[in-house]
Amino acid sequence: MFDTLTDSFTSAIKKIRFHDDEKALKKALAELKKALLKADVHHKVVKELIDRVELDTKKAGIGKDQFLDAMRFTLHDLLKSEGHQGFVFAANPPTVILMTGLQGSGKTTTTGKLATYLKEQKKKKVLIVAADLQRMAAVEQLRQITEQIGVDLYEDEATKNPVEVVTAAMAKAKSNLYDVVLVDTAGRLAIDEELMSELKQVRDAAKPSEIFYVADSMTGQDAVRTAQSFKEQIGIDGVILSKYDGDAKGGVALGIASQVQVPLRFIGAGEKMADLEVFLPDRIVNRLMG
Ligand code: GDP
Repeated sequence: MFDTLTDSFTSAIKKIRFHDDEKALKKALAELKKALLKADVHHKVVKELIDRVELDTKKAGIGKDQFLDAMRFTLHDLLKSEGHQGFVFAANPPTVILMTGLQGSGKTTTTGKLATYLKEQKKKKVLIVAADLQRMAAVEQLRQITEQIGVDLYEDEATKNPVEVVTAAMAKAKSNLYDVVLVDTAGRLAIDEELMSELKQVRDAAKPSEIFYVADSMTGQDAVRTAQSFKEQIGIDGVILSKYDGDAKGGVALGIASQVQVPLRFIGAGEKMADLEVFLPDRIVNRLMG
């Protein structure tokens, strides 16, 4: 995990002797640049980061500790992004969350994980809505997950229209006083007009408090690009990074934070229902820097 930013980078930095000179700093910055590019961080962002680390190190007086502190500070600042971490409850329940993402990104699993988090840690009454009617196995997958975690599921096998499902589910959620409604929407293998137009209809029927985008960390810059496109087309309020346990490069969090500029809310790091953590910039910086 995170080999690129930690192992090769830290060993290169160890070899550099800082004698209060600019040459050492240039070398260290070059190593940092290499590590960030390898980690899939966009080159424009890399330049901004490097410039800031250089400036801050010089301000503090050139030295290894000063360089590492400046780097830690810069990465933390980037990941912090304006907005919230974790879950925000609407003033008037139910809080409705639209779960979006490409097929295979881990959206359905993440919906189950989020429900588990809300039920176990926040003691909330959660309803999951099966509005992914494109993928045959999605409803069955949700049946198994909701049974396992003891959360209610709204499904309707009689219709193929997700808008009908969502409309009926919202009425049920209100009359049965659910605290949170998680709507699992359909994904596709790639973004297409049909997907976006269905999503817009489902969004307008659900009137979500927030829209979450589930990004597969293992897809690197693709995840960043797709998140950007969802942001432009339907609007997203938060990103959940799934499969962070398998992210060989570690740069996707930096990419989303810097390019998409939507708050990172949670991290999924495993296949189990308990494998969801609130996104904490400190923890990620520690992992990135080793
Ligand atoms: P969907 O098509 O987006 O709904 O994707 P699924 O929820 O069905 O997930 C696709 C695959 O990714 C499944 O095999 C999940 O078990 C797996 N998966 C989801 N989240 C994670 C995660 O955080 N870590 C790992 N290792 N696997 C995950």
